[in-house]
Amino acid sequence: MLIAGHWKMYNGPGVTREFCVAFEPPDGVEAVLCPPFGSLGAAVASGHTIFAQNVHWQDEGAFTGEVSTKILLELGVEGAIVGHSERRQYFGETDETVRMRTEHALDAGLRVIACVGELEEERERGETEDVLRRQLSVLTAHDALVVAYEPVWAIGTGKTATPEQAQDAHAFIKTLIDVPVLYGGSVKPDNAPELLSQRDVDGALVGGASLEVESFTAICQAAANIRS
Ligand code: PEP
Repeated sequence: MLIAGHWKMYNGPGVTREFCVAFEPPDGVEAVLCPPFGSLGAAVASGHTIFAQNVHWQDEGAFTGEVSTKILLELGVEGAIVGHSERRQYFGETDETVRMRTEHALDAGLRVIACVGELEEERERGETEDVLRRQLSVLTAHDALVVAYEPVWAIGTGKTATPEQAQDAHAFIKTLIDVPVLYGGSVKPDNAPELLSQRDVDGALVGGASLEVESFTAICQAAANIRS
């Protein structure tokens, strides 16, 4: 099981160092931390597995505000999140740019967590599977690729998908692409055991609850308990 802590634009280098010293992932779980760019160096120095939150599709160039695979690899970063809904919503990320970022990162030797998920209105209109099919049509299975199913209505809202909704979506995703699938969307220590015990849930992408060592450790522990 893979549990990824996605810090978004929180935790500068000082807090990152403190977190990394205090954090001890339990056995039986792969814990990944995804700090903001400015904290990547401090996080890598801790020896934990570190992913970035984005990566560009060119090796280098005039792309203000972006980061390349080359720079991430030189820093010692192992992978990157691609296509998070906040990137899609606020920064114009499209299925095509998700494809380019993912392919380039995998070719460069980075691991990728590619995010997919429907909006609330798309779920209400019964379009969840159509959206997932479209978003996943640009991705090809790869040993270093993991998909994160993150229903957008459940991200940072406290509204979690029910275990059945998560299981159904994950099972559907696995008919389209044969890679591990993480669940993301208001995962907390109290709902993690049930979500993570669903058959096709292979881990979690955790936002808010990954910012504190205690809650992130509790979620990692829930994952370890399920597989042990
Ligand atoms: C996320 O940002 O990927 C996420 C799942 O956030 P949260 O856990 O806070 O809903």
